[in-house]
Amino acid sequence: MSTKSHSCVLSPVQPDRPTLETLRDGLRGWYLARRRRLPWRDEPTPYRVWLSEIMLQQTQVATVIPYFERFVATFPTVEALAAAPEEDVLALWAGLGYYRRCRALHEAAKAIVRDHGGALPASLDALLALPGVGRYTAGAIASIAFGLRAPLVDGNVARVLARLTALEPTQESAAGQKALWALADALVDPVDPSTHNQALMELGALVCSPRSPDCGACPWHDGCRARATGDPESYPRRAPKRAPTAMSAVGGLATRDDGAMLLARRPDGGLLGGLWELPGGEHARGDGSRKDAVERWFAERLGLAVDVRSHVASVTHVFTHRRLALEIYAVDGADRLAPRPTWYTEARWVTAGEVAALPLSRLTEKVLAAVEGRAR
Ligand code: SF4
Repeated sequence: MSTKSHSCVLSPVQPDRPTLETLRDGLRGWYLARRRRLPWRDEPTPYRVWLSEIMLQQTQVATVIPYFERFVATFPTVEALAAAPEEDVLALWAGLGYYRRCRALHEAAKAIVRDHGGALPASLDALLALPGVGRYTAGAIASIAFGLRAPLVDGNVARVLARLTALEPTQESAAGQKALWALADALVDPVDPSTHNQALMELGALVCSPRSPDCGACPWHDGCRARATGDPESYPRRAPKRAPTAMSAVGGLATRDDGAMLLARRPDGGLLGGLWELPGGEHARGDGSRKDAVERWFAERLGLAVDVRSHVASVTHVFTHRRLALEIYAVDGADRLAPRPTWYTEARWVTAGEVAALPLSRLTEKVLAAVEGRAR
């Protein structure tokens, strides 16, 4: 059976009914033949759909799968997740990045237990009221888990729809967003919105990829305006990219004779909130020497007087809009007094075995790998 639709003519936002039906039918047929088996699709309970959608925000499917499986094995219900200490939840999330998502997930689990008896609410408005649940995630849970006729637009869907209609406003603009949501809304299959929305996301993931879309295998090949231009990759239109801002920072590696090292917990909220790291802070041009900056941060943030001994590692890391260059120095004297954290919320001497149980950012994992074996 051919997976291609008949030729169709689209207006950018309001396709007519026969066109919508042709698009839905083509998409559905393609999806039922080509879909991947994914752990959250096998048993699409509201909890599993919600968890997978939060994890999949800005993260690849292949990365998410082992995290998802560990999460549902450790926290099989919303109640189990809500009752867990935040540190345990963050530790299980460590490595997925975007830790604010994890904290919001945990807050939402508590709200679901407190306000909805432990069951995710089956309405868009109630879903939108949960921490960490925006328009996209609410649409995904409502349609996939509850079969409600709700649209969704994520990065994959935006790309497919912008290409289908050769949308001129940039994807980030208000006009672009409005057009994409209106089109997604018009397109949702009223009979089976769950399959339809999953199919739309799958088409973006498997066929209509950012680079070299496989238009020959696409069920929307004949009606796609971007393909007809001969340059589908030029859609979605994009605003020019900002270059990442360069940042410098310093950190101190304090170790004891028993091999333990000093780690500190960042304040909640803000970049890498609640995660543990080697103590330190930013170092801007004009701030004096890096060694002085290390000593100053230990004093200001931990109430400890340390002496910098030697440089031990350089680590670079790229955040979404920032490129960080971090210089690590070995320090002496941190164990003369107990730390008195001020900006940091906590500080602990931890052994190599204990480090693994703490929630760490990718950056700190890189730092620890770089300084491994450098303790005295
Ligand atoms: S025809 Fe090509 S560009 Fe158009 S939706 Fe399909 S894969 Fe994407």
